[in-house]
Amino acid sequence: MNLTDLPLPPRPTVLAQALLRPWIREGDVVIDATAGNGHDTLFLAECVGVTGKVLAFDVQEAALVAARKRLAEAGYEERVEFFHEPHSKMGAYASHETVAVIMFNLGYLPGEDHELTTLTGETLAALEVAVLTIKPGGALSVICYPGHASGAEEAEAVEAWISRLTGQGWRVAKYGAIGTRRPAPFLLVAVKGN
Ligand code: SAM
Repeated sequence: MNLTDLPLPPRPTVLAQALLRPWIREGDVVIDATAGNGHDTLFLAECVGVTGKVLAFDVQEAALVAARKRLAEAGYEERVEFFHEPHSKMGAYASHETVAVIMFNLGYLPGEDHELTTLTGETLAALEVAVLTIKPGGALSVICYPGHASGAEEAEAVEAWISRLTGQGWRVAKYGAIGTRRPAPFLLVAVKGN
């Protein structure tokens, strides 16, 4: 979806894709750190075209089954390599400063075990790898869910961590609804300086 077509206010998942689309060129290597049901994997596969590659990670078999099915139905399975591994392992499959975009969508998989959620320590470890893997001029997105207990702690830690990138040559922004009954999901976007 283009920025001009966005419903207002956009959901963070929709906004993330709209903001990142111009950052991805045909032939790029990109990463979906939390494949889940594969919505972002599909978006990324569309963007990189036939010559590009999406590396998609998830620790949950059910997620990978659903994501693989979605990509196969779209005819894009050749554009994606799935890894049944934690996102902190991405550095083993992508070299230093080679990846155009990395997307994280934290929390749990809707309809599956809510205990199988991303965890603060693992998420921060993966983000440390992600910032080394992204190429200059590349972008990182993270959607945080502070509306439930463990999500709130993770969201706070991730926001604090990503804020510090500003002092290291990155441009960082936060987008989310305000005035909601429970803390609303928010999107963090960071772009690495050239
Ligand atoms: N972006 C997905 C989509 O479009 O459907 C939704 C992602 S869901 C909110 C979060 C996913 O993170 C879950 O599928 C969960 O299994 C996965 N996850 C949790 N810990 C992980 C880890 N250490 N590494 C990779 N994925 C993880």
